[in-house]
Amino acid sequence: MSKEITSRAQDYSQWYNDLVIKGELADYSAVRGCMVIKPYGFALWENMRDALDKMFKDTGHVNAYFPLFVPKSLFEAEEKNAEGFAKECAVVTHYRLKTDPNNKGKLMVDPEAKLEEELVVRPTSEAIIWNTYKTWIQSYRDLPILVNQWANVVRWEMRTRLFLRTAEFLWQEGHTAHATKEEAIEETVKMLHVYADFVENWMALPVIKGVKSESERFAGAVDTYCIEALMQDGKALQAGTSHFLGQNFAKAFDVKFSNKENQLDYVWATSWGVSTRLIGALVMAHSDDEGLILPPKIAPLQVVIVPIYKGDEQKKIVDEKADEILANLKSLGVRVKYDDNDNTRPGWKFAEYEKKGVPVRITLGARDLENSHVEIARRDTREKELIHTDGLAQYVDGLLRTIQRNMYDKAKQYQQEHITEANSKEELIELLDNKGGFISAHWDGTPETEEAIKDATKATIRCIPLDNKQEAGVCVWSGKPSAQRVLFARAY
Ligand code: AMP
Repeated sequence: MSKEITSRAQDYSQWYNDLVIKGELADYSAVRGCMVIKPYGFALWENMRDALDKMFKDTGHVNAYFPLFVPKSLFEAEEKNAEGFAKECAVVTHYRLKTDPNNKGKLMVDPEAKLEEELVVRPTSEAIIWNTYKTWIQSYRDLPILVNQWANVVRWEMRTRLFLRTAEFLWQEGHTAHATKEEAIEETVKMLHVYADFVENWMALPVIKGVKSESERFAGAVDTYCIEALMQDGKALQAGTSHFLGQNFAKAFDVKFSNKENQLDYVWATSWGVSTRLIGALVMAHSDDEGLILPPKIAPLQVVIVPIYKGDEQKKIVDEKADEILANLKSLGVRVKYDDNDNTRPGWKFAEYEKKGVPVRITLGARDLENSHVEIARRDTREKELIHTDGLAQYVDGLLRTIQRNMYDKAKQYQQEHITEANSKEELIELLDNKGGFISAHWDGTPETEEAIKDATKATIRCIPLDNKQEAGVCVWSGKPSAQRVLFARAY
């Protein structure tokens, strides 16, 4: 019998797809590049969304909602943004279908229902939002505006992958307006730290915080800050971005305010977003050949209890104990389920919950219970131990925290072992081919060299780390002077 999940060694990419599909996070759909997020995957997203939403609110932001459609004339207003996204835009041209007179039972676009102005399905919402902010902002007293939106966006991507890159995805986009440049930059960096905090402390995934090079910058931004994570195959993944937009959108939409000196000035802007791509990051960074490994803090289900018994008498004893453990764990706020479905055998359940990445399994065996013991299995290390039932709930609660920490430590160790310095072209290529990860190397700062490296190696500059030390050297590619090292990697 073929093993259900392809191993990482055999085919990393197929392993990832197997986990997403067989771990019941998502499915392919009838629409190319679009996925169905299944209830288990959506529960995971909800936990991530709720934690992030609280962090946004704790930093003074409020939620709002703007239309899905952006009139083309508004979309065009900020030229660089429009140009950058043009290739990926879905466009609505008509608002009605009618029955096809030449083809019974079929519908056709009604040529008489052509829109006067075409509508772009939002790939990002700066345009529609800044057109609205124009009416919200007159004076410095109206600032700052700290708004976030939870929404779906559409980017017509040619090469898609479940969660990592889809044509439609769910995300949040923060759009803030400020009176000064300094305040806007402070906000951009603050939200980058919020993202890093979330990804590290909730998703147990260490990230590198940095700034993008010019060619990787968001279309319409002055600066793009990012967090970059490392996957188990040594490839990098952009996990979140925070953009300092300068006055570009204020100028495009003529959003001026009168400052304290009663002078008119353009408003300063930021935008920042993370998407369902984060679920892809989670899967790729932590899981193993048996299935998903989910960090306890966001796992839809943290503990599953599986009974093993023979006959009604044993079942009664096991059920009673399960009820007690369930109540105790729930009182500690643990997300727990008792799976006493007798249509499936315990061995099948073990494999199923391993595949779905439930952090802790408690096996209630009638025989162990005679000695007041239960078996606890950790998903992250796959270790098992017998634990006394006294104080079990506290023990499990503590174990969930241990697992969360252990997952972070393991990923951190991998990350640190995969940041390597290269001091020549040959070293850069050798490291990319044989080790992967982030390669720290000198770069002359020009887009031409960056492009040449990308063409030759498929590696891009992931970021210039925020905590970078200034260190004079020579570019590994051009031999020209360089002021600092940057991080290169092949990326998703
Ligand atoms: P951006 O607006 O391009 O800065 O992207 C905002 C966030 O969405 C970043 O965290 C990206 O990694 C993520 N993202 C961009 N494109 C996609 C896509 N096609 N599918 C899923 N996530 C995406």
